Amino acid sequence: MRYEETLRNPERNPMKRRVLLQAGVAATSVATTAMRSANAQDGNPEVGAIADSFSRPVFIATWNFGQAACERSREVLLGGGSLKDAVERGIHVAELDASNHSVGYGGFPNAQGVVQLDACFMDGLRQQAGSVAALEGFPNPISVARRVMETTPHVMLVGDDAVAFAKKQGFQPQDLLTEEARLGWERWKTAQQQGESATTDSHDTISLLGLNADGHIVGGCSTSGLAFKLPGRVGDSPIIGSGLYVDGEVGAAGATGVGENIMRYCGCFLIVEFMRQGMSPTEACAAAIRRIAAGEQRPASELSVNFVALNKAGQVGAAGTDKGFRCAVVDGRQSLVARPQLLQ
Ligand code: ASP
Repeated sequence: MRYEETLRNPERNPMKRRVLLQAGVAATSVATTAMRSANAQDGNPEVGAIADSFSRPVFIATWNFGQAACERSREVLLGGGSLKDAVERGIHVAELDASNHSVGYGGFPNAQGVVQLDACFMDGLRQQAGSVAALEGFPNPISVARRVMETTPHVMLVGDDAVAFAKKQGFQPQDLLTEEARLGWERWKTAQQQGESATTDSHDTISLLGLNADGHIVGGCSTSGLAFKLPGRVGDSPIIGSGLYVDGEVGAAGATGVGENIMRYCGCFLIVEFMRQGMSPTEACAAAIRRIAAGEQRPASELSVNFVALNKAGQVGAAGTDKGFRCAVVDGRQSLVARPQLLQ
């Protein structure tokens, strides 16, 4: 499924069409492309079968690479750190992994070759939230988002002013474009110049949710967004209620997939509301995907929308439309990768 096919009626929407034309050609060497379409059958357990087998504290994150992040979160928490520290530092693992081209340092740049990052952080205690979008030059946007939450009366900072804020807060700017990511961008540009119109479906996100023994819930979400995106494009990931939502009384949800298909439905807010009505985390994720598919009047398989969730009791869940989507779950005793419910 190409990115353009996951967007609704691109021919009818000039803005989306521009994004698609800008997006250009498939980055054939991108590992995530293969992961998205991987065979649904593998040795990992189905998330439904293990949903009740974890005890607090528990962490759940998107994708296989979320496992190392969740393990780091556990280490920080069990080492005496706060739940907020645990979630933040877990996400740092993905942000600082140069081989991960969809998050943080080493993320694929936008169409002009500039790495622009989106992230948000949310604490279930009084629904506190912080967010940054189109942030350039800082490898850990999740930390800047947390700082927005903790040190300003605002929720979201964007672009150059988010950069100025990060500098003022003492974060060190650095070049985020690795040689590998630059070469990927060069290949994309060359293919575009040769008239190739295929787009990349290279786009993943780390959404990581944590629940501690006291029932405190915190979540974070960080991404470089769609590879070679239109400069300034912001997806669902830094938008509270779309790429992430935490309700301290109910639970939390996090997203990965085509942001344009998630943010028009406030996907994560919807999941938390479904859990409030009594659905399990997996049922709630699946119900949100059905709602989106119904709104789009298209099969779920065309949408690339994927979610993880947990409730206050410590039940975990996940559902998605990408066959290769996986989630990672870690508690005090276990660490595993699971297969979310697949909706096609
Ligand atoms: N949701 C992210 C975005 O649209 C990308 C992804 O998670 O695949 O920016």
